[in-house]
Amino acid sequence: MMLEGEFHTHMLPEFMIERRQDRCIRCRVCERQCGFNVHWYDEEMDMMREDEMKCVGCQRCAVMCPTNALVVKPHPGNYKPNANWTRERLQDLKKQAETGGVLLTGSGNDKPYRIYWDHIVLNASQVTNPSIDPLREPMELRTFLGRKQDRLEFKYSEDFEDIEITTELYPNVQIETPIVFSAMSYGAISYQAFKSLAMAASEFGTLFNTGEGGLPKELRKYGKNAIVQCASGRFGVDPEYLNVAAVVEIKIGQGAKPGIGGHLPGEKVTLPISVTRMIPEGTDALSPAPQHDIYSIEDLSMLIYALKEATNYEKPVSVKIAAVHNVAAIASGMVRAGADIIAIDGLRGGTGAAPKMIRDNVGIPVELALAAVDQRLRDEGIRNKASILVAGGFRCSADVVKAIALGADAVYIGTPALVAMGCTLCQKCHTGICNWGICTQDPYLAKRLNPEITAKRLVNLLRAWSHEIKEMLGGMGINAIESLRGNREQLRGVGLEDWELEVLGIKGAGE
Ligand code: SF4
Ligand code: SF4
Repeated sequence: MMLEGEFHTHMLPEFMIERRQDRCIRCRVCERQCGFNVHWYDEEMDMMREDEMKCVGCQRCAVMCPTNALVVKPHPGNYKPNANWTRERLQDLKKQAETGGVLLTGSGNDKPYRIYWDHIVLNASQVTNPSIDPLREPMELRTFLGRKQDRLEFKYSEDFEDIEITTELYPNVQIETPIVFSAMSYGAISYQAFKSLAMAASEFGTLFNTGEGGLPKELRKYGKNAIVQCASGRFGVDPEYLNVAAVVEIKIGQGAKPGIGGHLPGEKVTLPISVTRMIPEGTDALSPAPQHDIYSIEDLSMLIYALKEATNYEKPVSVKIAAVHNVAAIASGMVRAGADIIAIDGLRGGTGAAPKMIRDNVGIPVELALAAVDQRLRDEGIRNKASILVAGGFRCSADVVKAIALGADAVYIGTPALVAMGCTLCQKCHTGICNWGICTQDPYLAKRLNPEITAKRLVNLLRAWSHEIKEMLGGMGINAIESLRGNREQLRGVGLEDWELEVLGIKGAGE
């Protein structure tokens, strides 16, 4: 492959394509399915050929091939093994020597940082307190997000038969499972993917998050299931946008790229996206790294209360940050500034596009951040003043259960939702070419997602995880997710250092 007529690339291909010629019927499906133009038909030879250098390993061709003729696998070609200079490091250096640019990537951090969920085990009832069978007994996953009162006052009827809460309640949002779809903006993902998330959240009774790309007018009917973001670019923010939503979220940071802003290139700002974001068609949508009106906790408080004022104090206001050093102190400030929900996005959070060095090296794991924040807010007596939503690398229902026991109110999931839609984590979201129709604005690719069908896949995922959460709760003899929240006695660490157990606030297994 030649790069801009200057260099012949020195890079090795990432993937190798094996085509079983005895099975290939030359239907050219693979050619049509690949947005990276890997496959082509050689008329002279009457056979399909491939350019492996272009292959990103998304597996679309292998899945769609009607005769299972294709195998796409990591390319075995390698440099001399070297513990310091891995294949990835050499490839990155060569790419930079050829392009002179920042390495960009998509999806989440793929480096082998410790995943604490895999070193935490759950409890189960034995002998003294019986477990509960969720198929026979009611099991409550309903969760309320928002600020809670310090105390409640009640009024009894004269015959003491009825009871009424007389305390005025803060606005809370009810969700039927403690799982919420992460922020994914229209622009970063296709309209079809965005609509699928909205439909699934609405059907299951949970929330999706608009990210910073606004909410298209015709999708505002899903507003009561939407967390709408107000980010540094203020894209798409107007009174109607704020008032149709269930929650308004101020985005300060994102786990995949703490400390830096975002950039949607002009070629992706099509007419519908420009209308939704309220910017001219074809112009770059630049999100500055900071919110230019927030340089202190007092500034944050002013924006929180401006948004509360704009929504008549009827909606919880969330503030989202990336998990970084001193996250507990920052979270405490956010709660004191008036945030009703604090959202913390960890080191493994996904993204549509981020500099690779930032994604892979900045931030801290969400498990440690969550434990530290929950503990700090408890120690300061302000834990009930805000719900905690955590994001960044949740892979299965057991991760969710462990997060709730560590102190989370609910969990944001991004990558599992994308995978449910078809994503294979090829990490090429930033190219705008997504063969699965998710991270693209190319109408030919985007129409591969049918929102009706994709929403069903997402609902199935939520249903499956919710069943599993009930099973795990039942095993612990707990019949409501509320009783698990912050119940770290249900957790034990395996293979962790003392300092890690201390930050997590859990005992080691066997204790
Ligand atoms: S999709 Fe499969 S059968 Fe069709 S041309 Fe490609 S490799 Fe051959
Ligand atoms: S969303 Fe698409 S481009 Fe991004 S990782 Fe998944 S399959 Fe690849």
